Amino acid sequence: MFFADRMLGKLARKLRLLGFDTAYVSDMDEEEILEFCKETNRVLITRDRDLLRKAVEKGIRCYYVSSDDWREQLVELSKKIDLKNSKRMSRCSLCNAELVRASEEEIKAKVPLYVQQTQNEFYSCPVCGRVYWAGSHVEHAETLFRRLGL
Ligand SMILES: [Zn+2]
Repeated sequence: MFFADRMLGKLARKLRLLGFDTAYVSDMDEEEILEFCKETNRVLITRDRDLLRKAVEKGIRCYYVSSDDWREQLVELSKKIDLKNSKRMSRCSLCNAELVRASEEEIKAKVPLYVQQTQNEFYSCPVCGRVYWAGSHVEHAETLFRRLGL
């Protein structure tokens, strides 16, 4: 869905927490980025006006953000796309992979005992193995998103 340019790593992680498929590769050059967006049909999010212009010339859909703060970037994006309508806790914020239900073994190995006793929904990332539950990385993000009106 999205491709965040190399200046937007934090924004990419928050978009994933919101549930949006967001690719982020820090070591691609401009040509590679444009090629990749075109091939995968991703919408480029960028702060780079030069890259924006090149993307438009190639017919790639893009969103421009001007702020260098990810909170303001989210607010800017929310004026262009509906960020509320997403499936939260469906994607790993580190790898962008879709989360799956965590197995008993993963829960036992990676979740603190008191959390195991108080929560009953656990998801894990098939790529990096990180385990997510309501109140882990998510609650903090939810508070922020609410504060931003998202
Ligand atoms: Zn992961």
